[in-house]
Amino acid sequence: MKINLSNIKKSKFYLDKNECIGIPTETVYGLAANAYSQKATSKIFRLKKRPKKNPLIVHYYDLKMLKNDCEFNNDFLKLYKKFSPGPITFVLKLKKNSKISKNVTNKKKTLAVRFPKHPVSRKLLKLLKYPLAAPSANISTKISPVSSKDVKDEFGKKIKFVLDGGSSKIGLESTIVGLINGTQILRLGGIEIKKINKVLKTNLKYKPKNKTLNVPGQFKTHYSPGIPIRMNANTPRPGEAFILIKKRKSSDRNFYYLSKKNNLKEAAKNLYKTLRMIKNKKFKKIAIEKIPNIGFGEAINDRISRASKV
Ligand code: AMP
Ligand code: MG
Repeated sequence: MKINLSNIKKSKFYLDKNECIGIPTETVYGLAANAYSQKATSKIFRLKKRPKKNPLIVHYYDLKMLKNDCEFNNDFLKLYKKFSPGPITFVLKLKKNSKISKNVTNKKKTLAVRFPKHPVSRKLLKLLKYPLAAPSANISTKISPVSSKDVKDEFGKKIKFVLDGGSSKIGLESTIVGLINGTQILRLGGIEIKKINKVLKTNLKYKPKNKTLNVPGQFKTHYSPGIPIRMNANTPRPGEAFILIKKRKSSDRNFYYLSKKNNLKEAAKNLYKTLRMIKNKKFKKIAIEKIPNIGFGEAINDRISRASKV
């Protein structure tokens, strides 16, 4: 997509003034603010109604600025080389003299960092003298936004500006890898675990209950459209919107396909878009057919099961 430089400069103008703005990334849209500023980052929590104890992911252009804030290790460098910029977040040790605001880390000595790949966010990050704290640009516990319109739906006039970058290519949050107490998968997302295992020559698995690091995006209710969701459904019941992944012979106007070809990556990309569409059409209930629990299907099932806990 063509990059609109004047919109990038406008974004810098607001961010330099400690304002929050919406920014595009390849995973989902972020609500961004200067990660070194207490004032700017406290606005993120207020706008999102996000609990203070839920730390933020900080977005960097490359390793140059990050080395002032975090300690590196071998697994981090291997994964960085292979997957960054891209949909992977690393939890690293925070350096003592880092300028990261205490709001961002909830006063912990760890920091979650990511290098987004979206050309618009990269152009912006390159211009700034600070990294950007940017959680998903939605009200806490609600559906993540995958377009600038979604961000406006969430915050209306409460935010000064949303930088448009088209619709998010991945459409699902980043995979989070903890690198503090050994290497662990803390959240499923845009990079499949098997790819991480291949690079590290390991056999890591995602175990939600077996964590020594607290990952707040893993709260029970999250990604919620605000209406009940019934998982593993074979057929829809009256009044339900029905989300499918496998093509059926008979169709109905209540049917919403995540993928036309039973492709899990495409399904992941369309999940939030579809949930938001169904919610905006004022359905009262959603049924979802069984999604195979492999590859991106594992991440989809993780999100749906949290979204279903209204
Ligand atoms: P979101 O709010 O959707 O951007 O998700 C941010 C995710 O990053 C949440 O799951 C947070 O728990 C996680 N996170 C941020 N900082 C840390 C940290 N220092 N340690 C562990 N997880 C973190
Ligand atoms: Mg979020």
